[in-house]
Amino acid sequence: MSTGHSVLHGIGVSAGTAAAPVAIVRPAPGVDTNEPACTDPEVDGARVREALATVSNSLKERMETAPEESKPILKATAKLASDRGLAKGIDKKLKKGFGVTAAVEAAVEEYAEMLRGLGGYMAERATDLYDVRDRAMCELRGLPAPGVPSFDEPVILVARDLAPAETATLNPEKVKGIITEIGGPTSHTAILAAQLGIPAIVKVTGILDITEGHMLALDGGVGEVIVNPTDEEVELLEARSRHRATALAGSSGEGATYDGYKVKLLANIGTIDDAERAAKFDLEGSGLFRTEFLFLDRADAPSLEEQTETYTKVLQAFGDRRVVVRTLDAGADKPLSFADLGKEENPALGRRGLRLCQAREDLIDTQLTALAAAYEATKADLWVMAPMVSTLEEAQWFADKARGVGLPKVGIMIEVPAAAIRADQMLSIVDFASIGTNDLTQYTMAADRMDGELAPLLTAWQPAVLQMIKFACEGGRSTGKSIGVCGEAGGDPLLALVLTGLGVGSLSMAPTKVNAVRAALRLHDLATCQQMAAYALDAPTAEEGRNNVLKLVSPTMLALL
Ligand code: PEP
Ligand code: MG
Repeated sequence: MSTGHSVLHGIGVSAGTAAAPVAIVRPAPGVDTNEPACTDPEVDGARVREALATVSNSLKERMETAPEESKPILKATAKLASDRGLAKGIDKKLKKGFGVTAAVEAAVEEYAEMLRGLGGYMAERATDLYDVRDRAMCELRGLPAPGVPSFDEPVILVARDLAPAETATLNPEKVKGIITEIGGPTSHTAILAAQLGIPAIVKVTGILDITEGHMLALDGGVGEVIVNPTDEEVELLEARSRHRATALAGSSGEGATYDGYKVKLLANIGTIDDAERAAKFDLEGSGLFRTEFLFLDRADAPSLEEQTETYTKVLQAFGDRRVVVRTLDAGADKPLSFADLGKEENPALGRRGLRLCQAREDLIDTQLTALAAAYEATKADLWVMAPMVSTLEEAQWFADKARGVGLPKVGIMIEVPAAAIRADQMLSIVDFASIGTNDLTQYTMAADRMDGELAPLLTAWQPAVLQMIKFACEGGRSTGKSIGVCGEAGGDPLLALVLTGLGVGSLSMAPTKVNAVRAALRLHDLATCQQMAAYALDAPTAEEGRNNVLKLVSPTMLALL
């Protein structure tokens, strides 16, 4: 347990500094491996029932203050906790001698299997059942409930990892910083933190040794955490922040290089709130609306009406500025309880993104219809694209559907090497493409984007990844179609120069990153960006590529890095 002053390091994924007491996000505890076997099923059965009743009641209590869209899922989960069938299943396990937490786990697993067998709505309840299991186990083990704790004063959240659905609902007024023990630079938690403007650091070994109540200070730009900081240290961190802000002052207007080569600067968003926040920034629209965040953590898919209303509001927020909407990209680390296609050995390589929508056409049909209605209502500059496209058939399938409902601009994401290599054929089918460097890096390097251990592989500086981006840009050039980047690489000022040199026409990122990227572009002409791209591509390693590019950088830019 760390109580004294110490400094820890991780991967900074969202710039900015913060100092506040720590609040720990508790992981699910799992079975108590030291618990005794059951010798009195009556007594243990009563204990488990009491734990389940407490879980059910606490979920009902949470419902009272929860946002409207979370209420149905809390209600359904509370109901499952008081399900008689589940209690009977646990009794059976206790009679066989299972300890209390082992009985809960085994019975829940059987029950979940049964729900999945029933399919449809029932199958979708399996995820909620696991939530009941984790909460009941905490009760039985005398541990605090898992998940994000409630707090009144601002805190820095510390977690082993945070689910995207948990991160998406954090309030930046209350959560001043996020630190996780695991996680990679392009994990969705990192992306969402940057989008919310919350300074964040992932892969901080030892952070879970800090106990509740200690003070932390962090610098998300350099990935530094100070445990029990002195006043001077907090001041130093704030001074760093100010220095950066000064370097950025005066950066405004359209994105363009020093010699006027235009690169649109766009925002990544996930909710109406994000859209409204982002629209206030000096930027040229949204290059990625991750619509799946409307679908996460819900008992059912949002209705056609709800989706139409949401998309209309998002389009209205940006007025006549471009909005690129990505259709549902669920699966892998963004599971949907109502569209569970069963357990997969390798979810990132499984039925996620467009593949999930091909299995559940109802989801994409409703979404496209809602987007078409929002377009009709606003006549906004709406572009719609599909995630995770790997084949021409998939691109065609999506384009036919999207055009069929009257959407004006139809595109695909290039985030699978197969799509990058065949970008020109892909682009002959659709109107535009946007490179998702997060997944393109994960799939090119065969490195799980959630795994901080693989950080050296998980960077778009890898020459093989840049080569993929080059293929995509060549496809854009040969077909005359628009190519942008909407992965995290676009928000890195140095990589943004390289991407510009490779030929991308737009960069989409967390709105808080736009100023730095705009300032970087203004300091360099296109020829320099192209030279940088050549240096980075030709380098034998990611590190050498970056170092070579740094040699061409304007000294003023160094303050932004
Ligand atoms: C990407 O993969 O780069 C991307 C933008 O999509 P997401 O990060 O949501 O997977
Ligand atoms: Mg992606």
